[in-house]
Amino acid sequence: MKYLAILTVCLTGALTSYGQSKDKVFTHADTLRGKITAERAWWNVTKYDIAVKPDYKGKTISGSNVITYKTIAGNGTTPLQLDLRAPLMIDSVILNGSEKLPFSQEGNVWHVKVPQQKKSTNHKLAVFYHGAVHEAIRAPWDGGWTFTTDSLGRPWMTVTCQGEMGASVWYPCKDDQSDEPDNGASLTMIVPDTLVAVANGRLEYKMNNPDGTATYKWAVINPISNYCIIPYIGKYVNFNDTYAGEKGKLDIGYWVLDYNLAKAKTYLPNEVNHMLKAFEYWMGPYPFYEDSYKLIDAPHTGMEHQSAVAYGNYYKPGYRGRDGSGTGWGMKWDFIIVHESGHEWFGNNITTNDLADMWVHEGFTNYSETLYTDYRFGKEAGDAYNAGTRKGIRNDKPIIPVYDVNAQGSGDMYPKAGNMIHAIRHGLNDDERFRRIIRGLNKTFYHQTVTTKQVENYVSKQAGFDYSKVYDQYLRTTQLPKLEYYFDQDHKKVSFRYTNCVEGFNLPLTLKNAAVKVRVVPTSNWTTINLKNGEADVFNTDKIVSQYYLNVAEVKP
Ligand SMILES: [Zn+2]
Repeated sequence: MKYLAILTVCLTGALTSYGQSKDKVFTHADTLRGKITAERAWWNVTKYDIAVKPDYKGKTISGSNVITYKTIAGNGTTPLQLDLRAPLMIDSVILNGSEKLPFSQEGNVWHVKVPQQKKSTNHKLAVFYHGAVHEAIRAPWDGGWTFTTDSLGRPWMTVTCQGEMGASVWYPCKDDQSDEPDNGASLTMIVPDTLVAVANGRLEYKMNNPDGTATYKWAVINPISNYCIIPYIGKYVNFNDTYAGEKGKLDIGYWVLDYNLAKAKTYLPNEVNHMLKAFEYWMGPYPFYEDSYKLIDAPHTGMEHQSAVAYGNYYKPGYRGRDGSGTGWGMKWDFIIVHESGHEWFGNNITTNDLADMWVHEGFTNYSETLYTDYRFGKEAGDAYNAGTRKGIRNDKPIIPVYDVNAQGSGDMYPKAGNMIHAIRHGLNDDERFRRIIRGLNKTFYHQTVTTKQVENYVSKQAGFDYSKVYDQYLRTTQLPKLEYYFDQDHKKVSFRYTNCVEGFNLPLTLKNAAVKVRVVPTSNWTTINLKNGEADVFNTDKIVSQYYLNVAEVKP
């Protein structure tokens, strides 16, 4: 998603001001926004068909969303909750093409009085709305529309809306990550015919209208998160490519501003090919072959919009020419292409039900950077990159905050969760098995929304070790565990334990060099083991720290 790992390094201030503060008092409005309320629980979205006409000069939009849904249960007298953020206003709601429904407003929530509907029936709710746009102050870290100009002064518009604001900042929907439209979504945009409109998936049609506007309709057929459905409107041109991948021919589209065309052609395909090769190897087939893969020039740094990844990295390696890991490895590839595309697997393919579990998106995607580095430049490069990202860890608050109020945890969900995954991999010391686990996650939870527990349990089960205390430690506390060890006089025995950790913390460690390998499972009690020749050498503080996110110290007996 949007809080890039590197930002925990260079934009700490922005994260603090835009993230929820430690002492936030949650309100009824937060519950309406973040919980599956009774008014959300009885229906399941199967499709969104959104149409918008933005007015660039007036900074307003008018539009509609035809929401196709299936009733999970009969609704009785329970209304239907829609989310749409002020100052946008709902004008009318039409059920199944003819019946105009009454509704009332409660802040950013709209209660629609639907007639009684039976269980397992399908309906269409057409919602018409208009109003002034909510502008993103600092996209992509703040939600809303960006109405800006390109470097030649021509109109350029898009939206960012993950997290606190959500998609209801620009269209009416059930604004909860747990309910993705099962059969996909379409986005129709009416724009001046001098501009080009791009969105997710494939272009269904473009039509010129007599009034000097043009209509573009784009659609995906796969489930998609609300915040991933995004318009891009500007002076776009495009070129196409294909990639021979694990599921066959993957269509690739590059949509760039006209003046970027030449450099895009020489730069983007090479970077994208490397990315797809590394990611399909480690994480399995790209999850949206049917909808294609696209990179689209954006006026902000970047976002993982499904099959329409926003790109604003200046056609430079690193993060706009900087390496957040400080190791040099981050300058060997384009951070936005790698990170935001990594989300196609973790975030878009596997989506969490609650924003609180967002580490599944950001931790694994942060880790995809390590996997990419490893694939292209070797294991030691991956280790170095991963350890380098630690300088962004703040241990300010837990990665997983409270549930049901649309709360978001610490920015540590990027590098710290990425380091936790790396520690699990090193302890496992079996990369083939580890790769099966990462690919297995993407296969088992293919196009699903999940809880952190499902992911945690899957990894434990497939790895053959119960990591529940390891997850608790890194995801639910701010403590950094310490490994203490000492040798007996002639280095024939070593004793070790963890301190500063949760009860039962037991991260397994595989310590090795070219000659010997020792696997230990320390706990908070001292354990002593006998050492064979050469084995004492692997108890090396610097080496252990380079592979495991721990404090490590050789202490006196
Ligand atoms: Zn991200």
